[in-house]
Amino acid sequence: MKQIQFDYRNKDMLMQDIRRVKQWCQQNISSAVTFEIYSEVLDKIAIDTICTTISQEIPEAVYSGCTTNGNIMLGELSRSNVCIVCTIFEFPDTRVEVIQRPISEASADAVCSEVVDFVDKNPWVKAVEMLITIRGMSMTDITTHLSKVRSDVEVFGGGAFAMDLDEQQAYVFSNDGECTTGAVVFRFIGGDNIFVKTWQITGWKTLGLEHTVTRSHGKTLYELDGQPAFDVYYKYLNIENDKNFFKNSLEFPIIYQKGGSKILRAPTGSGNDGSLAMTANIEEGIKVRMAYGDPETILRIVQEGGYEIAQFQPQMIHIYSCAARRFFWGDMADTETKPFQSVAQTSGFYTSGEFLRKNGELIQHNVTLVIGAFREGNVIVGESNEFEMKGFDISKQVSLISRLANFIDISTAELEEANRKLEAMAVTDGLTGIYNRMKIQQDIIDSVLEYKTDTSLIMIDIDDFKKVNDTYGHDEGDDVLRGLAKLMTDTAAELGVTASIGRWGGEEFMVCITGEDAGRAEQIAEAFRQRFAQLEFDKAGRQTITAGVTKLTAEDDAETLCIRADKALYIGKHDGKNRVVVL
Ligand code: GH3
Ligand code: MG
Ligand code: MG
Repeated sequence: MKQIQFDYRNKDMLMQDIRRVKQWCQQNISSAVTFEIYSEVLDKIAIDTICTTISQEIPEAVYSGCTTNGNIMLGELSRSNVCIVCTIFEFPDTRVEVIQRPISEASADAVCSEVVDFVDKNPWVKAVEMLITIRGMSMTDITTHLSKVRSDVEVFGGGAFAMDLDEQQAYVFSNDGECTTGAVVFRFIGGDNIFVKTWQITGWKTLGLEHTVTRSHGKTLYELDGQPAFDVYYKYLNIENDKNFFKNSLEFPIIYQKGGSKILRAPTGSGNDGSLAMTANIEEGIKVRMAYGDPETILRIVQEGGYEIAQFQPQMIHIYSCAARRFFWGDMADTETKPFQSVAQTSGFYTSGEFLRKNGELIQHNVTLVIGAFREGNVIVGESNEFEMKGFDISKQVSLISRLANFIDISTAELEEANRKLEAMAVTDGLTGIYNRMKIQQDIIDSVLEYKTDTSLIMIDIDDFKKVNDTYGHDEGDDVLRGLAKLMTDTAAELGVTASIGRWGGEEFMVCITGEDAGRAEQIAEAFRQRFAQLEFDKAGRQTITAGVTKLTAEDDAETLCIRADKALYIGKHDGKNRVVVL
């Protein structure tokens, strides 16, 4: 394939460029000619002029494009508002087609079905690239549906945008439709000799504490940890809930894990109620953190990705990079895109959202670099494209941010570890290491609510324990207590029983058994009793326990259940100890 990238200045100069392409096509073998047009300006007139000129001069050419937050030409952010990439494919079976449709949440299913069918009916398709106007829509239905595109096809793309981050309008256009908002363009490319591979490069790192999505609906994120979601942005980043929220929060998306991939989502706005508008549905219960860009990590990850991409020996690279990355790097945005030009002709744009199907699932990302690499023909053995990423210079300011973020990262990790230890301590009995009274009591209450009649209790008391203390000393008594706690824990694990085991006080213990195992409580108590009776303590030798067992009935609550277990235990003691009584 051959590619030329040029800026659009005016119609006359465009004519000259297109004629050169035409001439080349006449003198050489070519199968398809495509034009990708990227415009930072929402200038329908200029776009229409370009489209008409192309179709007049080369009627068979396939063109498509969108408005952008910056055009990437030859790997660099172009200074020109409107840029054109012309690709001439040389293998006779290479094919390119375009479909453009209006899109809304209501029409998403029909449009996506058409795409899935088109790919099924056209075995030549190797990749589907999507350009879409995102604002105001949830991408979830679209991405879910397009995940069903034939599995050997690469699916990726980007959201159209505008130079002004607050601009709600964006356009897509192609030879299958007018320049318009509320639309989607699909580019299909394939043929026996076209090879396509995709990569997702992020490099953003988690920042600060983990939060749980406690309330969300569709693409609106209402609450994190029971508080308005916006509060997290205000509390940690001092970002106000005003018209600049989108711009200010752009570099700090939320990050979470889904099916093995990291997903970054930047809110597009904040409501008066403190809710955040996202670009795709966000599920309740997921754990999220904030994320920030660490330049050194980003560049290391770009470099790793770049080497892999070079191995593929592409001739053309399409970059869909998030506007947030451009914003993040400022004047240095080319740092992470330019090196790709050393591998192949690189073009693309800064998007409002990046799409990539990985592991069978099409995901809409933010703050991500999605790379599509194309090759026409086979890999040439012994040859390799070099990924050159030389001498990037991280400014002093950037490296200061990086160190401060690292400071926060480590402090957060230490805090979380300390919290985990404190949480564990708060529920643990100091002597025996099993649950304390407070925890086992709470577990009983929870189990009664959750499992209802599938809850049983075993209350255990060591027989004549006072004598152990009196005869062998308090330390030996402690050993016996620890011995029983360990025996119960080990036995439950061995029997595969779901049980919560705690120290009720002194030499009394409580075991709460839930679910299917609740019916086995007597058998379990009996196992405890028999095994404990065999245990040999250093000085105290063999000791025994008495256990009261009871199962929850429909009339019970946690309190009546505990009282009955205590009663069963009392009967056991009264009847001669070293026994299990069921009541
Ligand atoms: P019974 O068979 O009726 O249960 O008689 P018992 O001697 O076991 O019962 P009693 O309630 O009279 O004695 C319990 C003893 O447990 C009294 C107390 O000193 C001892 N004890 C309570 N907590 C601890 C502890 O943490 N360590 C040790 N070593 N002893 C404890
Ligand atoms: Mg007692
Ligand atoms: Mg006792």
